[in-house]
Amino acid sequence: MINNQAIISVKDLVKKYGEFEAVKGISFEVFEGEIFGLLGPNGAGKSTTLEIIETLREKTGGTVIVDGINLDKKPDEIKKIIGVQLQTSGYYPNLNLVELIELFGGLYNESVIPLELLERVNLKDKARSKYKQLSGGQKQRFSIATTLINHPKIIFLDEPTTGLDPQARRNLWDLVKDIRSKGTTVIITTHYMDEAEVLCDRVAIIDSGKIIAMDSPDKLIDRLVATGFERPKEVKKANLEDVFINLTGHALREE
Ligand code: ADP
Ligand code: MG
Repeated sequence: MINNQAIISVKDLVKKYGEFEAVKGISFEVFEGEIFGLLGPNGAGKSTTLEIIETLREKTGGTVIVDGINLDKKPDEIKKIIGVQLQTSGYYPNLNLVELIELFGGLYNESVIPLELLERVNLKDKARSKYKQLSGGQKQRFSIATTLINHPKIIFLDEPTTGLDPQARRNLWDLVKDIRSKGTTVIITTHYMDEAEVLCDRVAIIDSGKIIAMDSPDKLIDRLVATGFERPKEVKKANLEDVFINLTGHALREE
């Protein structure tokens, strides 16, 4: 499914906020059909990088090509083929999920079938609920649904699982995998390395505006092990997360 054909190509990207250089000349490619992870500590420049590609922020320097479209020349063409999480909280507190999707569909000039979209993110039974009535995991699933409204080739997810409980986090992994299995390229940021390991075909690790490593999780781990690194031996065959999931199950608890 992944064919090593770049659908996003970023070259020497620089972003300055005043004198401060938040992104210091990074280059990377995202292949068509992959789940690409952008990892790095807070303030590393992940969101800045994503929002530049999403056409939501001006870059200071460098080149960004998305599906053959140059960001400098046709940003509006890029907007049409990408899915970005929309800010749904607070804006229209009295609209239910179906009404919100119809509203966003109108903004995109796309005819959507709200119930079909809600079904895809497992929220059909919440169709008549308001956004504020949803649990954290449901809110994230809804915001992922909004990225799919315009049938994008690529979706951008910025920390979609931050703050979720273990069940909701796993449920979101399944959703992201499902979206990718239908051919959509996914770029995701996360602070959870177990998540990146499970989900991402390749990751770039950014620190202070620079990419310091980029490869598949497996190869990055192998390379570290080859330096002689050894994790302190695990004496137990399970950890506390295993206990938690074993006791509470995989089922979502958000009703
Ligand atoms: P990350 O998403 O990796 O946590 P960000 O891209 O949000 O990092 O931020 C990178 C750096 O740029 C941080 O030091 C942040 O404080 C700074 N920054 C982000 N947005 C702005 C802004 N609008 N004005 C000034 N500095 C900003
Ligand atoms: Mg961020």
